[in-house]
Amino acid sequence: VSRFGDITMAPPDPILGVSEAFRADTHEMKLNLGVGAYRTEDLHPYVLNVVKKAENLMLERGENKEYLPIEGLAAFNKVTAELLLGAQNDVIQQQKIATVQGLSGTGSLRLAAALIERYFPGSKVLISSPTWGNHKNIFNDARVPWSEYRYYDPRTVGLDFHGMISDIKAAPEGSFVLLHGCAHNPTGIDPTPEQWESIADVIQEKNHIPFFDVAYQGFASGSLDTDASSVRLFAARGMELLVAQSYSKNLGLYAERIGAINVVCSSSDIAQRVKSQLKRLARPMYSNPPIHGARIVANVVGNSDLFNEWKEEMELMAGRIKSVRKKLYDSLSAKDNSGKDWSFVLKQIGMFSFTGLNNAQSENMTNKWHVYMTKDGRISLAGLSSAKCEYLADAIIDSYH
Ligand code: PMP
Repeated sequence: VSRFGDITMAPPDPILGVSEAFRADTHEMKLNLGVGAYRTEDLHPYVLNVVKKAENLMLERGENKEYLPIEGLAAFNKVTAELLLGAQNDVIQQQKIATVQGLSGTGSLRLAAALIERYFPGSKVLISSPTWGNHKNIFNDARVPWSEYRYYDPRTVGLDFHGMISDIKAAPEGSFVLLHGCAHNPTGIDPTPEQWESIADVIQEKNHIPFFDVAYQGFASGSLDTDASSVRLFAARGMELLVAQSYSKNLGLYAERIGAINVVCSSSDIAQRVKSQLKRLARPMYSNPPIHGARIVANVVGNSDLFNEWKEEMELMAGRIKSVRKKLYDSLSAKDNSGKDWSFVLKQIGMFSFTGLNNAQSENMTNKWHVYMTKDGRISLAGLSSAKCEYLADAIIDSYH
């Protein structure tokens, strides 16, 4: 008899489980549009040249593998906050920010959730409906209560701005509002700069705390600064805020697990105290973070040649996604004679397109067409080649009608 016999089988993860199913399929036209990972036009994974260069530098220097401090690599923490806010930002100049290296975006969100659970007991986190599938898991596991605010309007395949504002307004004073800094996952729909101002207004009015998830800086528009403008707009108002960062997508460091949690505070003294507590939370969870990815980021962002080269490579990646987006739109418009307006595909930004396909239609995509995607109708354009756009358009049109 087993002591573990009462443990039931857990369901597959709704996102990572898609890749498992894809691997098991032998059809030649199969297409994995599930997980958001950049592929080349040949649909191969891509390691950025600047990453290889940074790794060569690291090898040449013969750096050691000693433990990092709990808060991570100092050179990384410095450049990551600067990349987010701009080095000249008051918050940085006046050291009003607590930055701790995290286990990529997920681990950074999890650490922030632990901080909320410990120091804001009973406070709610408001998350967008829909959102990235792992957000709910993260807050559930940290025992942080959450509820949803309206975000996506299926009628327009656009932002439900009024729903969003009224739900944030209706939430208990002092709630945390989780916002996607850019390239909202899964919808690819972002507020306009004017809408961001109004969102900041109501958050301030209600004494809420903005909590940004920045997983795609540079990947949405191709510009690091443009993609950070939402966060900077809030910081410029002197608001306190949390920001989780990830280098999985923009530097292609998925498996290195490199990111950070930043807490912008109203004084440097408070920031120091917050940082000390983040370290205290991290220590029993994982002790200290891995060094390899932190060194890569510190080398790339901290060296002007590599930094400029990174920006070029990122524009290339963002550009390839934009071009398959356009090609998919063209194919859909040309092939579909139902009169449906497909322009939403072009309006969405970032890695994903939210097709509007429902659960059953998404299953048709997979079962009949071997197109692997999440059941919410999201497709990752980063996993699409221009050669397969027409095939994908056929699959989408067939599944819709
Ligand atoms: N937030 C969002 C919105 C994401 O899409 C992702 C990646 N899929 C993450 C956070 C975190 O990813 P990672 O843990 O690989 O940095």
